[in-house]
Amino acid sequence: MLLTDTHCHFDDPAFDGDRDDCLGRARSAGVGALVLPAVSRSGWPRLKAVAASHEGLHPAYGLHPVLLAEHAPADLDELARWIERERPVAVGECGLDYFVAGLDPDTQWGYFTAQLALAREHDIPAIIHARRSVDQVTRGLRQCPGVRAVVHSFSGSEQQARKLIDLGCLLGFGGPVTYPRARRLRTLAATLPLEAILLETDAPDQPGAMHRGRRNEPAFLPEIAAEIAALRGMAPDELAEATTENARQLFGLS
Ligand code: ZN
Repeated sequence: MLLTDTHCHFDDPAFDGDRDDCLGRARSAGVGALVLPAVSRSGWPRLKAVAASHEGLHPAYGLHPVLLAEHAPADLDELARWIERERPVAVGECGLDYFVAGLDPDTQWGYFTAQLALAREHDIPAIIHARRSVDQVTRGLRQCPGVRAVVHSFSGSEQQARKLIDLGCLLGFGGPVTYPRARRLRTLAATLPLEAILLETDAPDQPGAMHRGRRNEPAFLPEIAAEIAALRGMAPDELAEATTENARQLFGLS
């Protein structure tokens, strides 16, 4: 089984004590590649260093909506320079968060749409965070036709999922799908077209049911794959192959 963790904050300080061991466990578990989304400009150099430290770690650079207070308009110009110079596999993590209090929606919208435009201009996908904001994210994608994207840790309705898929967007599934109570999400993971599905851990956040309350890590990705494969009535290997191929195509991984 060769899996791709399409959303792992592997530069997070939560991994500082045992990053190499963590990656070793991921490799042993069959996780061959990780996409590392950024959260703020100040973290890009460190993310770059972490990604360069081992094979199979692919950085993305962007400005996360939850860290809105850290961003400045000049960061978008700097992001364009980083994309040109570093050739990351994606722009991100960008998006809209209407759940966390105190994040001005208009300011978020400005950073989000500017990052979509950068993704399109440089022909790389956008990694999107959409919390209580799926309809607005969809509107942003509609206004930027041709942009490729994944909405990571998707948590919307079937109708919202279909609209995104119709726009060519992929949807990321991770730990939340392993909770028996997540019925709507589990139904989506079972029924959406396989071509639209990516696997992710979002580590160190969003641990699956078996690791509740503890640090999540990329080695747990096979559990998510097994869960979704079981929901779909297919072999885990088959799901791994298909979702890794989806990741390869979206991010241009070799
Ligand atoms: Zn994230």
